[in-house]
Amino acid sequence: MERRAVQARGRSAHAAAGARTQRPERERSGNERSGPSRTDCPAATAYTCAPMPDRPPTRDPRIAASGAGSHAEPHAGPPILPYPQRPLIVTASDPIWPVLAARVMEIVRADRPEIEIHHIGSTSVPGLLAKPILDLGVLADPSSIADIAEHARRLGFGAQTGMFPFPPTRPLLLGALSRDDGPPIPIHLHVMPTAGRFQHDLRRHLVFRDALRADPDLRQAYADLKRGIVRAGVGTGLSYSLNKTAFIRDVLAAHGEEDSPLAPGSTIGIIGGGQLGRMLALAARRLGYRIVVLDPDPACPAAAVAERVVVATYDDVDAAGELAASCDVATYELEHIAAAMVRRIDADRPIHPVEYALRMTQDRLAERRFLTAVGAPTAPWREVRTLEDLRRGAAELGYPLRLKVAIGGYDGRSQVRLAAEEDLGPRFAALAGSVQRDGLLLERELEFAAECSAIVARDARGRTVAYPLARNLHDDGILVESIAPAPPPVTPAIVAVAQELAGRLATELDLVGILTVELFVLHDGSLVVNELAPRVHNSGHWTIEGAVTSQFEQHIRALAGLPLGAPDATGIGATVNLLGTGRRRPARLAGLDRALADPAVHLHVYDKREVFERRKMGHLTVVAAHPDEAITRARTALAALHWEDEP
Ligand code: ADP
Ligand code: MG
Repeated sequence: MERRAVQARGRSAHAAAGARTQRPERERSGNERSGPSRTDCPAATAYTCAPMPDRPPTRDPRIAASGAGSHAEPHAGPPILPYPQRPLIVTASDPIWPVLAARVMEIVRADRPEIEIHHIGSTSVPGLLAKPILDLGVLADPSSIADIAEHARRLGFGAQTGMFPFPPTRPLLLGALSRDDGPPIPIHLHVMPTAGRFQHDLRRHLVFRDALRADPDLRQAYADLKRGIVRAGVGTGLSYSLNKTAFIRDVLAAHGEEDSPLAPGSTIGIIGGGQLGRMLALAARRLGYRIVVLDPDPACPAAAVAERVVVATYDDVDAAGELAASCDVATYELEHIAAAMVRRIDADRPIHPVEYALRMTQDRLAERRFLTAVGAPTAPWREVRTLEDLRRGAAELGYPLRLKVAIGGYDGRSQVRLAAEEDLGPRFAALAGSVQRDGLLLERELEFAAECSAIVARDARGRTVAYPLARNLHDDGILVESIAPAPPPVTPAIVAVAQELAGRLATELDLVGILTVELFVLHDGSLVVNELAPRVHNSGHWTIEGAVTSQFEQHIRALAGLPLGAPDATGIGATVNLLGTGRRRPARLAGLDRALADPAVHLHVYDKREVFERRKMGHLTVVAAHPDEAITRARTALAALHWEDEP
């Protein structure tokens, strides 16, 4: 047997435990932990190569006495051992795996012979490279799941830890089996329901397993994929699983195991009824879908194109349940919502992005940790909780700096610039309200040549397509203009790097739908990720008239399980934002006749009832042959518009 194994640095317990879908391929472990640091293994970057232990480690007397190995002896403790905290490793197939799996199945069924249990996952396929973890699937009627979980606990299985444990309705239980010829082997016991939206899980696991068992070429292709992922240096245990998703879904689709696309007449639920929700709803309507939105404002911009508005705040879990009950699939148009709402909907209906993607993008600190873990470039940064942290961070990073609230900021709100040491005290005090709860992100202010955004779409099978890059102009933190495809200094080489990065990040987040990656292009042409938005984005509005498929339609297609449309640009699109001015008052737009005197101008008005300074009220797009022409005509039209009763 091959003695060398490839080890991945687990990101963290919660990241490895990861997001979930109903798909069988997600090999989420409960407790994968950070492994050893980088070594000089030539085949790996983020993965490291480390020898498997030649000898079993000294046994804990309790393990020796457990009798769970092949030499069962009378013992006091339960037959299943605690789950070992170990780094992820991928190793050559071991013929002992099916034998050990059979032993675990025997233990589980010893006094419950009616339990249906199967060996699934890569260790169930002889000859296949795998993580040495025994995956077992127990089929359970929803009413007996709690009872089966309790039975497993009595055998010694433990609960899953970390940030994203499987819910009690389909729990993952963790344990290990002792063996004579090595350390105990970890076990993932998946309890899978026979009814509800996850009822196909076990069958799909078996279909994939049997397809691999039956087809040596498929097995070879899968092993090659695994080796390629390891060689490419994917940074985390979860990444390893996510990078196999597209392969597995394709195999399942070839065996008729795929969710059918959402039928026209079905209802899509959207949390957030602002302009993004409105434009998503319009695109969905065109495909024949119906819309229910959840928004605190019954007269929100999306209300006009929705069947119904569930009026509720973005932390109302009961209202999320109501939304789930009235839709077939769900999504959201903003990341400032309670993750618990997404979890609530996920219990009943598919929702994308999944909770994991939301958590990694709604908190700037979690986002920075995620980006760092997957090797995406960011500005040098520090987490700040105290004035002391701030002083230390500022000394380490150097000025100028940006200090941002971790959760809740947008359009440049809730961030401050720190030019020198005397700014630290007062500016820290200005953000003190949120520091206690969420922390602050401190980062270097970068001098960039351009700001861009890379928008990608990822479909339900895990394939991505990338839009041309947009070049963005901000005014005091708020987006005012976008041009796409981005003119110089953005080069084709920069575009290629940005698109590859965005596609990779979408995969790493298990995103289905649109992901926007805000980027800085530095003067040397290198890219730095500023921010992720797990959704359609203001800088993609040009795609409505300027691309074959708009970002809104693309998101709906992905959500509905439809094939994606072409992302190509049909010309050069320039979008300018129509912002509010002055004090809060009823919104009355004037100057439309002059603005639309240019027949190339497309005007979008979001129908917000009130206008105020810097509120996003609409946008204009012009598609032309040349970027200067497109932006000039869009700006000229914008200049003709104004809000009445301007003070
Ligand atoms: P928001 O959530 O408000 O969009 P961002 O972090 O994207 O917050 O900041 C808004 C804008 O502020 C950016 O688009 C960019 O123009 C500027 N900015 C933010 N961080 C930096 C930085 N580290 N260096 C230079 N400019 C920055
Ligand atoms: Mg931003």
